[in-house]
Parts: sequence; C-alpha cells; structure tokens
Amino acid sequence: MKELLNYVDGRLVPAAAFLDNVDPAVGAAYSRVPDSAAEDVDRAVDAAARASREWAERPAAERARVLRAIAARIQARLEDFARAESIDSGKTVAAARALDIPRAVANFEFFADAATQFASESHASAGAVNYTLRTPVPIAGCIAPWNLPLYLFTWKIAPALAAGCAVVAKPSEVTPMTAFMLSEVCIEAGLPAGVLNIIHGLGPKVGARIVAHPSVAAVSFTGSTKVGAEIARTAGPMFKKLSLELGGKNPTIVFSDADFEAALDGTIRAAFSNQGQICLCGSRVFVERAIYDRFKAALIERTRSLRVGDPLTDVDQGAVVSRAHFDKVMGCIETAQAEGGRLLAGGKRVVVDGRCRDGWFIAPTLFEGLAPASRTQQEEIFGPVATLTPFDREEEVVGWANGTSYGLAASLWTRDLSRAHRVAAAVQSGIVWVNCWLLRDLRTPFGGMKGSGVGREGGFEAMRFFTEAKNVCVKL
Ligand code: NAD
Repeated sequence: MKELLNYVDGRLVPAAAFLDNVDPAVGAAYSRVPDSAAEDVDRAVDAAARASREWAERPAAERARVLRAIAARIQARLEDFARAESIDSGKTVAAARALDIPRAVANFEFFADAATQFASESHASAGAVNYTLRTPVPIAGCIAPWNLPLYLFTWKIAPALAAGCAVVAKPSEVTPMTAFMLSEVCIEAGLPAGVLNIIHGLGPKVGARIVAHPSVAAVSFTGSTKVGAEIARTAGPMFKKLSLELGGKNPTIVFSDADFEAALDGTIRAAFSNQGQICLCGSRVFVERAIYDRFKAALIERTRSLRVGDPLTDVDQGAVVSRAHFDKVMGCIETAQAEGGRLLAGGKRVVVDGRCRDGWFIAPTLFEGLAPASRTQQEEIFGPVATLTPFDREEEVVGWANGTSYGLAASLWTRDLSRAHRVAAAVQSGIVWVNCWLLRDLRTPFGGMKGSGVGREGGFEAMRFFTEAKNVCVKL
C-alpha cells in the first residue's frame, strides 16, 4: 500500500508509524498515512522558523508568482487530484472535478492576486499622520477537516502564504491524500524549504501540538464546534490569534411567493450536496404553509430520484466519509424516528453492487413532524438527512431559524424584495443567500456567529488575520 510522507523543510520525510487510510466507497484501507508525533510538529515549526523571515521579506509579487505556479500544477493534474479526492472521501468524482479541485486552484490564484493588492490605511490629521504597518504572523498553524479536503486546506494555506507567513498545516487524517499531493506540487513549484510544512496524523497528537506550540502565533481551524472549543481553551490563555470555522444547522426558508422550481432545486442541492457533508448545508427546511403540500410532494420525489452509488461513476451521491461517520448518521436517523419524526424518504443504508458492496452509503433522507426544538432539528448531523417543517408567519420562521446554538448560513427563497432584505437582516448567521445557495465570491467575508465560530475568512479578512497591525503615528 502507498505510504504517504510528511512534508518538512522542503522534503518528503517518512514517519515512524502509520494509520490506515480507508476508501469509504469500498470500505477497505488502500494507503497508509503517517501517525506523526508531537516531535514531528516541533521539527516542522523549527523549519518554519528558519524560513519565515526570508519569505516575509520577499516582494509580494514574488510570493504571488510561487502561488500561481502551485495553482498551475494542480490545474495540470486536475483529473488525478479529482480522482484521488473521490477515492479518499467517498464524494463523487464529478463533484471533485467540478467543485473541490477547481476551487483549490482558485484559492491559490485568488490569494496570489490578493498578495499584490493588499494595502494598509493611513490617516492624516492636523499636525500628524498615522499609518498601519501589517507584518505577517511569522508562523501560522492551519488545521482542516475531511469534508472538502483540498478545498478547505488551501483556503487557509493560500492566504497565509500570500500574507508572508510560514505555515505548519495538518489535513484530516481521514482524507490526507490530496494534501500529500499538494506537498509534491509545492516542491515542483519551487516553494522555498520550510515555508509550508504538512504534518499528517491524529488531531489530539498533531493538531493539539500545533495549537499548543509557543512559536505558532495564529491558528486557523475548520472543523467541529467541540474541537473548536478545545482549541480555544488552549490558545486563549496563550493569546494566540484564532480563526474558528465550526459547525452549522442551517435553515432553508421557502416563502410561498418563491420561484417554485428554483427553490426546489436549491433546497435539494443545499440539503444533499456532498452527501450533506458541507458545513453550509441547509438541513432544516421551512416551507410556508400555502405551498407546503405541493413542495413536500415535489421534494420527496426529487430526494428519492437522487442516484446513490460508486462515486467514480455517474451518480448524484457517493459514500459518507467513514464507518464511524456512517454509524453516527444512522444513529441520528434512529433518534429522529424515536422523537416521532415521519420518514418521507430514505432512512436506510444503500447497498451498492460490485466493488462498492461494503461501502458506506446512506439514502438521502427526509423527515417531517419534528419540533424545531427537537434534537434532530438542533444538533448538526452532517449527513444526507434533512427535516421539513411548515410555517405560517415570517416572525415565527425567523425565530426557528435563529433558535439553535449555531449561526453559519441561511438561504431564503422569495420574490418579495422587502421581505428578502428584512429576513436577511434578522437571521443570525454569517452568510445569507437569497434565491441561491453556495454562490461564492472569494472576496466576501466567510464565517459564522454563535457556535459556528469566531472570525472571518475570505478576501482581505484572511490577509488581515494572518498579519499583525501596527499603528505608526508621526508628528509633523
Ligand atoms: P473535527 O473537528 O473532528 O476535525 C477537524 C480537524 O481537527 C481534523 O484535522 C482533526 O484531526 C483535527 N483535530 C481533532 N482533534 C483536535 C484537537 N484536539 N486539537 C487540534 N486539532 C484537532 O471535524 P471533522 O469531523 O473533520 O469535520 C466536520 C466538522 O467540520 C463539522 O462539524 C462541520 O460543520 C465542520 N466544518 C465547518 C466548516 C466551516 O467553514 N464553518 C467547513 C467544513 C466543515
């Protein structure tokens, strides 16, 4: 089996121990990922410390050139990357080809541009001028989850490198393959040794050491709210800069005046894209009573028509990411039934013939009849499971939308312009999509409120996160 390597000080280095890396569509290990130790992180931080000054002092245009070279090499191997991402995570190769890998390329290209456009303010006043110096945090830690592996890994690494930081990064141990391929690409693209170090392994060993290492001054984390809280407990008293992109339980709100077909398409995409394993997925669907029955019937039909199967073939849904996650999602389906939810579609394992017969596939699942305060409507499932609930009044649905501990994303479907703006302002979430879902412009601030996180990524927000502002005041 292929053994993946850590990327430290510009070289690929073998680890002392390994973990199995499993193909979830097949249900069996197919490669081995380093089970790195805290000492491996320490070596990576030392390498980053040696590299950071030279990288920070390089002209932005030169840093941008290296980022573009990385983007070009991923683009040149797009099909390899897409296939690898699909095998590693269970997502369809079509999704990896259309979304994950192009977005990883876009992340490097976007932040190459951002590096050359990033500027600081100055404030002239009577008798003095103030300006802001922005110096890169010398060493940043970046920790990413398994659902959009290369997409989210590079969403952190690209701005950190663009800002002039040296980076120690950890992908999820569940989906390490494209991060390993990225390390090969960085070597080919001429990224100087030590500027980016990628250490594979378990969260409590590798991730926790990145967070606790005294030389890592900023930590950018995407993952669960539970681990985010643990990271905050370590990093808070050390006064580290912290960006936390955490879980969600996002509402989709369909008003009766919405474009019915567009709302239906959007609701299906929001609920089930990537097997429901996107932090932005709309897992709570609220539909105005006047169109509830018609919308419900159409939604059931569309949900049942989603083709689940071998992710390397032409299907709509692949496998969920792991055995453990399969068990968790199936447990949530049992909870929903125990709470009195009426199953409208799915609710069971899908057995796929052929090479995927032992894979972890779940039929897209819809429930109705669950109270907004039920566990199923409160807790993040992060799988292909959505709830459907009718509403009568705008204030009522806004109350339900806001009635969870999360606040990441919401989507609204209406043709009433005033209502769209009013509800967008009233919903407690970092992102509101009106008549769309997951329509992204990389310049916009990205992140959540409440239990969905702290801080914003995207555009210059990310560049600000990875730099320290210093005010210089000159008396004239
Ligand atoms: P997770 O929190 O289990 O793991 C995320 C990463 O943190 C992994 O690399 C893991 O190894 C590492 N980790 C685990 N324990 C750690 C510790 N004690 N210290 C440091 N690092 C540690 O999350 P996951 O299961 O990989 O991903 C799913 C979660 O991510 C969901 O809750 C989802 O909503 C969230 N997510 C959020 C966003 C967002 O932008 N808000 C995007 C994608 C996923």
